[in-house]
Amino acid sequence: MSDVETIRVLLVEDDEDDYFITQDLLAEVTSMHVVLDWARNYQEGCARLQHDAYDVYIFDFRLGDRSGLDLLKEARTLGCAGPCIFLTGQSDIEIDMQVMRAGADDYLVKGRIDAALLERSIRYARERKKSADQVLFMAYHDNLTGLPNRTMFKERLQSAVSNTLLMEKQFAVLFLDIDNFKRINDTLGHKVGDLLLKEVSDRLRGSVRTSDTISALRLTSSENTIARLGGDEFTILLMDLKDAQAAAVVAQRVIDNISSPFYLAGTELYVTASIGIAIHPQDGKDIDTLLINADAAMYHAKKVGKNNFQSYRESLCAGGMERLVLENDLRKALERDQLQLYFQPIVDAREGRVRSMETLLRWQHPVMGIIGPDQFIPIAEETGVIVDIGHWVLIEAMRQFKLWRTAGIEIDYVSVNISCQQIAHPKFRCQLLEAIRDAAIDPMCLELEITESVALQHTAENIELFEELRAFNVRVAIDDFGSGYSSFNMLKRIPINTIKIDKSFIQDITDVAHNEAIIAAMVAMVRSLGLDAVVEGVETMAQLQAVQKHGCHQVQGFLFSVPLSAKQATEYLMNRQYVKVYSNG
Ligand code: C2E
Ligand code: CA
Ligand code: CA
Repeated sequence: MSDVETIRVLLVEDDEDDYFITQDLLAEVTSMHVVLDWARNYQEGCARLQHDAYDVYIFDFRLGDRSGLDLLKEARTLGCAGPCIFLTGQSDIEIDMQVMRAGADDYLVKGRIDAALLERSIRYARERKKSADQVLFMAYHDNLTGLPNRTMFKERLQSAVSNTLLMEKQFAVLFLDIDNFKRINDTLGHKVGDLLLKEVSDRLRGSVRTSDTISALRLTSSENTIARLGGDEFTILLMDLKDAQAAAVVAQRVIDNISSPFYLAGTELYVTASIGIAIHPQDGKDIDTLLINADAAMYHAKKVGKNNFQSYRESLCAGGMERLVLENDLRKALERDQLQLYFQPIVDAREGRVRSMETLLRWQHPVMGIIGPDQFIPIAEETGVIVDIGHWVLIEAMRQFKLWRTAGIEIDYVSVNISCQQIAHPKFRCQLLEAIRDAAIDPMCLELEITESVALQHTAENIELFEELRAFNVRVAIDDFGSGYSSFNMLKRIPINTIKIDKSFIQDITDVAHNEAIIAAMVAMVRSLGLDAVVEGVETMAQLQAVQKHGCHQVQGFLFSVPLSAKQATEYLMNRQYVKVYSNG
């Protein structure tokens, strides 16, 4: 008897004789030990379903004026997932189809059942249920830790959002990331990394009461969920919060539990984690906002020293949250293909010919929409991400230039903005040479735009850099010239090709005559040095004429074109490259 499995069966049957017959049949079953509960009508059946869980349900098809089908529906809404077998008085194809469609496992005709048939029916139903459960389990759980995965977490979160809206209750999303996990993985190997993730999962389970059964996709009001989103990222859904403080208590408990040493593969390991908290509804009404904000708060926790938790609301009040969100997202922007290059023509106004296309970055942010470079380049520079982004820009710019050349579009070169952090990076020179070599274009077809402030810091390294760039044969432009402390004297000493006169000269025309005189002087000086002058920010015909009067014909600005996507830029070049539009007579 001892190794025979015990199963609990609920029989809902309103005919007492039929109950006795079924009971006798089940008593004959030898492969399992059946514990039978009998409900004598529909109402009693419902009451049992609410209070108890069974391994198998056997329902009479006709239950007074109700049907066993109604009861099955009731059972499923209550989350009773066990297999269900119907008994009925007569064999009827119609009923047979009906019960199967309703999700029943079998349909047996009374009077034609023997113990063997009933046993087989139960056994098969249970086997089918087991494999269906397993498939479901795999779809909703993380392989390594057995925790719910992202899919399940998002479904739970969604049902929490829908439920609490009605009940006016609060819940919290905790976003947890293990500190320095990559280093652990890199130094101790992936096996230890995996072991650690499993142990962390166990400690999370120990810190938070949860139910992670597969049948409970439908959330009952107080069920918490711990999930592994991927890598070393975990999320916790805390239901039924008394107040925001309750979430903080759990977060601290999690941090404490994780900080005691792990013993893995003979190594004693000290690990910490950072947690961000977002509370529904004040920190986000929908699941995406909640996750993004919990993630941003977690990032804030990392920023202020790791091994702590931060709540979204408070870190927001501490200021700079939007920036933090951007900072966090920017790291992922490159991998996720969210950066795009736009192109703005630099035109020789005498013949209307496009000399170059300047590449200008745009970030297609999934939530905030298109973000301009003025908003994110400074962040990219501070965080160092600019090095990778700048590298990508160089490659993309040359790739596009080559495409144009192949299409027969003859522009002289392509212009790429280079930031000072990028240039100062030890990798820069290698990356540049490699990119030019891979693109297989003449280095003279690439012009690097370097802002005045960088170019004119007259340090030994800077001079060396410009000489090297000259040796590489790439073109160099000084960008935003005149916006800072320019020194004509220094221009003589560094090898460059182009001076781009800052758009402020042409745009802040509080004193038209004065600015025109300055532009005239700058253009004259640039030309005396044998360099190209480009005036930026030309928006009107009047501005163009003023510039051309002083002998500057290379211009850039909205008058000719706003920055264009690659597709638009190609059309623009195809259509107007040789058209002589603006001329100074
Ligand atoms: P920038 O190099 O001075 O680029 C010219 C900026 O002026 C562009 O702004 C352009 O859209 C805008 N502009 C062009 N014509 C006109 C005009 O007629 N009137 C006015 N009012 N504005 C005009 P954008 O695209 O927002 O770029 C801003 C800055 O971001 C750029 O200034 C550049 O310094 C930086 N940037 C853009 N792409 C990159 C990049 O790939 N790498 C780096 N390091 N910086 C970049
Ligand atoms: Ca520029
Ligand atoms: Ca500029």
